[in-house]
Amino acid sequence: MGYIHLSEDGTRIFVDRPSGFLLEGEHERYLAMAQETFCPPAEKTLKKSSGLPADLICPEGGGTMVLRRGAYGVFFGCGRFPRCWCTLPLVEGTCQLLQINGMALYTVSRPCWKCGQTLRVRSYFPYFDLIQWLPGVEEPLQPLEAIRLSILPQLDAYLEQHCENIAERYSKTAGFSYTANLCPRCDMLQGS
Ligand SMILES: [Zn+2]
Ligand SMILES: [Zn+2]
Repeated sequence: MGYIHLSEDGTRIFVDRPSGFLLEGEHERYLAMAQETFCPPAEKTLKKSSGLPADLICPEGGGTMVLRRGAYGVFFGCGRFPRCWCTLPLVEGTCQLLQINGMALYTVSRPCWKCGQTLRVRSYFPYFDLIQWLPGVEEPLQPLEAIRLSILPQLDAYLEQHCENIAERYSKTAGFSYTANLCPRCDMLQGS
């Protein structure tokens, strides 16, 4: 299990081994799990932490890895090509980017639907982080759209400990536990 910590201002989550939960082929599983409930947030209402540079450095010569499109899809290749032929699969490169830059913790303030108390609803969306850093790869990264609160157990457990309104709840109707935002005043679920 990876080591996780929030940045000082609490807006970014760093994970030392993101590949542990973003293995190739697992995107589809996350997608299947979340397909029923995932609803893309309205981007305007999201308060993002500042975007970060996301350069991947070539392991062989210090060049910057850039996105290329080949016969088998999108991959990272050394910017010094053809002097350097180093490449990196897309999944591995995106995992490294999250490792370097962390994952933004998105926050939106809104009233509790039940009691009206203003509260902060938080979640993470690696997909939004990555397409912001890597314009043009929306399509190959699309399965990541499904990844948000309640999908990555390690991050959820961490956020439950560090964010006052995030907690695990058991759903009798669904028959499983999930992590969600709760109202601090009336304890009502505010969704994931
Ligand atoms: Zn290189
Ligand atoms: Zn409430």
